[in-house]
Amino acid sequence: MGILIDQNSCNGCGFPESETPCNMACPGDLIFMQSNGKAEICCNADCWDCCACIKICPQQAIELQLPFEITGKEGSLKARAYREKTVWTARDANGNEEIFETPARNESSLKNLINPEEFSDVVDSYKGISKSFTDLGQGI
Ligand code: SF4
Ligand code: SF4
Repeated sequence: MGILIDQNSCNGCGFPESETPCNMACPGDLIFMQSNGKAEICCNADCWDCCACIKICPQQAIELQLPFEITGKEGSLKARAYREKTVWTARDANGNEEIFETPARNESSLKNLINPEEFSDVVDSYKGISKSFTDLGQGI
């Protein structure tokens, strides 16, 4: 899938004086700033559609490109994150929109889902890229 950054809507978020939200949010470091002060993605093939950049962009300039199987040609998904929820807007090829909400995964809601202590050993075992899967008992 991958993302599309609307070059008309992106205002650069104060770059180069400040870091941009989309760049800081991307776990793959895939978004860069162009010489014209607009954000762009370097390689959509490496985007894993996490939507972090989409939810955080204050200009709603970023959208997820939805595959043909879901919405038909040019379907897209936008989002805006609020403290307690995320509001999603899905648009199909004909411009029909559907808006839906999901609760935010903030600190308090996560506490209700998991006990961090139960996962600490597992999380620790995955820290550091030098550990192989074999070391972790996940031999492949
Ligand atoms: S967060 Fe949005 S408006 Fe800001 S630089 Fe990124 S794409 Fe542009
Ligand atoms: S959807 Fe996720 S992986 Fe893709 S560019 Fe945005 S933040 Fe990066």
